[in-house]
Amino acid sequence: MTELEIRKAIIENCLKMNATGLNQGTSGNLSARYKDVMIITPSGIAYEVLKPSDLATMPINKDYGSWDGPLKPSTEWRFHLDIMIERPDVGGIVHTHSTYATILSIAGKEIPACHYMIAAFGGPTIRCADYATFGTEELSANALKALKDRTGCILANHGMIATGANIAKAMWLAVELETIAKQYYQSLLIGGPNLLSEAEIANVMERFKGYGLQDKKSANSNAKPKTRAKTPAKTKAPAKTKAPGKTKAAAKPKVAAKRKAPSKARTQTKPRARKQA
Ligand SMILES: [Zn+2]
Repeated sequence: MTELEIRKAIIENCLKMNATGLNQGTSGNLSARYKDVMIITPSGIAYEVLKPSDLATMPINKDYGSWDGPLKPSTEWRFHLDIMIERPDVGGIVHTHSTYATILSIAGKEIPACHYMIAAFGGPTIRCADYATFGTEELSANALKALKDRTGCILANHGMIATGANIAKAMWLAVELETIAKQYYQSLLIGGPNLLSEAEIANVMERFKGYGLQDKKSANSNAKPKTRAKTPAKTKAPAKTKAPGKTKAAAKPKVAAKRKAPSKARTQTKPRARKQA
């Protein structure tokens, strides 16, 4: 992508983030890597009036505080920059105060392996970073610690961070993080989740590596009951009707998978496969 395309993608994702309710106002901020600089949203300006040239740039090095552009970079530039420095695999970062991730962050709860999609975050948990004041070096250090071997984390009493190879993937993961946060929160209201084992999350992570266009074929011929069993829990049906199915799915994934209609599982996983690729 050209620098202009990246700048446009950042703005598109800012607008998408607010349109979908993932973020309110200007509390969220986005950044993307372009060569040896980080392009980041400026602080305190409505996304609707943001132009590509309004985005700030900062060199991806430890020359902290150096920036270029017509407007000051987001007040959260520090952790954006430190993540870009420490994690060369990261090309895009989304930070938002999305409701459910923030509720869990207020309660100081990390997200356990309550759903197989947690594997998209690189392990069996989405950690909650210790609290530190926004914009500080301390918050950045805490976030980096929580992000170790992970693509996303929660920030205590604050919000969340999701990262990806580019801004679109980071945004996809931010939506996933908020979804799992909401599901985990609601499962706590009906007695708590049945957690998946670390071995199963490792298994799902392996499968995600090969996730791609061949997914439709493999869904027919080489179904993976353990991972598919959890899929129905992703739907937004009321907890009342879903609770029994979910309990059994988590407790006995193989049995539950056989009982669930495979067509439902396929439609659920197909769009995700594309974005994952
Ligand atoms: Zn924030």
